[in-house]
Amino acid sequence: MSLGRAVCVVSGASRGFGLAVCRELSGRVSPGSALLLVSRSEEALRREAEGLAERCPGLGVRWVTADLSTEEGLRRTVTAAEEMGEDRGTETLIIINNAGSLGDISKSFSDMTDMGEVNQYLSLNVSSALCLTSSLLRTFPRRPGLRRVVVNVSSLAAIKPFKSWTLYCAGKAARDMMFRVLAEEDADVRVLSYGPGPMDTEMQEQARTRMADTELRLQFINMKNQGKLVDVEVSARKMLDVIHSDTFKSGDHVDFYD
Ligand code: NDP
Repeated sequence: MSLGRAVCVVSGASRGFGLAVCRELSGRVSPGSALLLVSRSEEALRREAEGLAERCPGLGVRWVTADLSTEEGLRRTVTAAEEMGEDRGTETLIIINNAGSLGDISKSFSDMTDMGEVNQYLSLNVSSALCLTSSLLRTFPRRPGLRRVVVNVSSLAAIKPFKSWTLYCAGKAARDMMFRVLAEEDADVRVLSYGPGPMDTEMQEQARTRMADTELRLQFINMKNQGKLVDVEVSARKMLDVIHSDTFKSGDHVDFYD
């Protein structure tokens, strides 16, 4: 199930779902491909990049430490992707917008009075996904023989409201729509919003421990205790199967359980 000679950019690659996606991608691309890992945690990225390079000798692995909620972080990421270059006969460009945060879920809607906090949240979870994708599509423009795939790591929260998740739901809904617009505008780009299912990661742990809404918090605790959380590797595999099969409608939201 090869994606051919590819250039892949994965944000939020230091742990959780992003890390699993990098590992899955590394086994699905042809020799001569390049993979860029992005997050703020230098040590985790270095360790993972070194491990991947050792296991996949034909793969050029790079990492960049960047806080994607800042313009500087975005610039560093785009520059690193530019340096990976387009001179390797690339057949596929894959951009995985995975980095994300929950926001302060100990607060309800009426506690959200601090505009700085809201803007900071939207910078990482909405603005950076838009500007990173648009910048990379410019860096790797349309040309014959190049397939460009953009993934928005989405959530059920893009579609369904959850109490005390104002920022998270708003951010995921905005992203789904933003990427649907990209799909409308550019038929040359394959756009997928993928809901990975409830996975056993640090983000889930935050949900179980910090959520203001008691009833919902209990549901999350039960999911964990009853072993209902999805394995990150299984979900990453499913997402790449969806990309590979290429049967989804560009811009659509596809969920792990679909
Ligand atoms: P984690 O919290 O485990 O990982 C988040 C990743 O994002 C980390 O690699 C983190 O790296 C990176 N990140 C966070 N803030 C920044 C920042 N400012 N700049 C750059 N990178 C950043 O989350 P998950 O793996 O669980 O989630 C991954 C994606 O999947 C998210 O978009 C999430 O919304 C989505 N999702 C998760 C679900 C779940 O149940 N876990 C369910 C549905 C969707 P670092 O700290 O090193 O910067």
